[in-house]
Amino acid sequence: MAAPSPLVTDTSLATPPRTGTESGAEDGVLSRTLQVCEIFRSIQGEGLDAGLPCVFVRLAGCNLRCTYCDTPYAWERDDGREMPVRDIIAEVASYATNLVEVTGGEPLLQPTVYPLMRALVDRGYRVLLETSGHENAGNVPDEVVRIIDVKTPGSGMSHGSYAVNLKSLRPTDQIKFVITGRADYDWAKQHVLEYDLLGRVAAVFFGSAHGILSPRELAGWILADRLAVRMHLQVHKYIWGPDTRGV
Ligand code: SF4
Repeated sequence: MAAPSPLVTDTSLATPPRTGTESGAEDGVLSRTLQVCEIFRSIQGEGLDAGLPCVFVRLAGCNLRCTYCDTPYAWERDDGREMPVRDIIAEVASYATNLVEVTGGEPLLQPTVYPLMRALVDRGYRVLLETSGHENAGNVPDEVVRIIDVKTPGSGMSHGSYAVNLKSLRPTDQIKFVITGRADYDWAKQHVLEYDLLGRVAAVFFGSAHGILSPRELAGWILADRLAVRMHLQVHKYIWGPDTRGV
């Protein structure tokens, strides 16, 4: 009988980060700084990569105040620690995991997020960016998977310029709606149909706001409407509890 194949237990083993000397121009980019709330390794709780080990780079500062926000500690930019891109990359590399999510707060509020994403992509990481969609995400590198969290009325933040991103979607994008009740569900369904989201992006997720709407109720609405969206649960909240920080 043939010996079983060794198990690959972490995607970091498949694509180790690139190392090497920096050119002068790259050195300048890597010296630019960002206000960072926290960097940690956890299980990706959402999206098409749910369940995989992932390093999260949470940038500080947000211009929204969603009613159900679970990271209010990331609202104020000045509460973050100033870190050069070089040090962020070094800390990410220390976790030896090739899936990285840049999140916030709202990460697109800090211009240096663009060279950070580029540097991570160039080092072989699979990079996810989670954004509220209220900032124009058109300059995000093509290799980065954009996860756009479209704010429903129940968030209190459904106003604003989010539609700019819905008109210029990429096939690799993932769209997320956090649903707080039936009105949000109807609003999200209308957006799925109006913008033909199911035919334009990699996945559309409907998730129930944790502790506000039961997943069972949301699942019932999706099934009754035969809506081909993906139901998603925030896996990390079931593993560690809804209020645990840095997981
Ligand atoms: S956009 Fe995100 S970080 Fe900002 S208030 Fe809303 S849920 Fe919180």
